[in-house]
Amino acid sequence: MLIIGLTGGIGSGKSTVAAALEAKGAVVIDCDALGREVIAPGGRAEQAVLRAFGPDIAGESGHIDRPALARAVFGRPDELARLTAISHPAINDELAARLDLLPDDAVVVLDMAILVESNLGRLADGRSYSKVVVVEAPTELRVQRAVARGMHEPDVRARIASQATDEQRRAVADAVVVNDADMAALAGRLDELWVRIGEWAQAGK
Ligand code: ADP
Repeated sequence: MLIIGLTGGIGSGKSTVAAALEAKGAVVIDCDALGREVIAPGGRAEQAVLRAFGPDIAGESGHIDRPALARAVFGRPDELARLTAISHPAINDELAARLDLLPDDAVVVLDMAILVESNLGRLADGRSYSKVVVVEAPTELRVQRAVARGMHEPDVRARIASQATDEQRRAVADAVVVNDADMAALAGRLDELWVRIGEWAQAGK
């Protein structure tokens, strides 16, 4: 099994690239979605997060109220670290369960906004991504794309400032997809990337 970590800053086009790789035959696992799943009712981390953060973050139903949890950690690095210390291992356990269900010849893409910044995708049993693909675009274009998608510009800029830098992502990249032009240009670059991914899969056999 070839496991690829796919990352990129907000507005870079990471989700667009993930969807295109899925259309080419990769199995995409959205780690942000897993993050929401593990704290949802019955999720692997629900009870531990409720215990750690107390009744303030519970809604009337007794389950986690996500906006309240977000407020509890926003701008508080220590609290955020306390949350991720619970949620990230749970995400990785969920990921392990998903990988167990896939065939040996699968090409798996882990769609991760935070790869450089976290241990997501590095499982307790030693499995991990063996290649990293980074999607990059100039900052102003990323801001434009995110604003066009409905986000507020100051929020986008704050998110960019809080995420890893292009240099930090490039330092761990096995391949960089530069998404600075139109969709046709991106499609061409992804055709090239898919050839490379095929070579990686072959080399791993
Ligand atoms: P990310 O997941 O990195 O935040 P998305 O893949 O959601 O970014 O892309 C952000 C927005 O930009 C989306 O609306 C997407 O359709 C658009 N987009 C991405 N790449 C291109 C491109 N090459 N040309 C035009 N629009 C693009």
